[in-house]
Amino acid sequence: MEKVIVSGCLYGYKCRYDGKDNYIEKIEELKKKAIVIPLCPEQMGGLSTPRFPSEIIGDKLINNQGIDVTEEYMRGAKVTLELALDMCVQYALLKEKSPSCGKDKIYDGTFSGKLIEGSGVTAKLLQEHGIVVFSEDEIDELLESLK
Ligand code: SF4
Repeated sequence: MEKVIVSGCLYGYKCRYDGKDNYIEKIEELKKKAIVIPLCPEQMGGLSTPRFPSEIIGDKLINNQGIDVTEEYMRGAKVTLELALDMCVQYALLKEKSPSCGKDKIYDGTFSGKLIEGSGVTAKLLQEHGIVVFSEDEIDELLESLK
């Protein structure tokens, strides 16, 4: 079976900045077709849960208190990549809009809820190393790829 890294919050872990999850039922289907590896890059980078939400501003990650958390976010992205490479993971299913996991959309850095095209730092790093990333909106495509 293929291995798939999954955003922990999509899997049901309460690892979001506000201590909630983003569980999607189709994860159960994915579990039958692949070896699922749930993880949260932000926690793996050393951030606590709950935590202040952050957005990408230029080449930095800044939380809504104005604190620079770039180091923690980048550490989480690198640890996720290392794990993916060590385990020969080919696919990832990541939560859209997150500054770590977002694949196509992220918030614009003004903490006003406005979305722009862009990728979170973990999604980007995985893609740069050949891992095929799907958002939760694309889980059917991922399931199809695993047939
Ligand atoms: Fe979910 Fe990714 Fe945010 Fe962790 S970093 S809470 S896995 S979207």
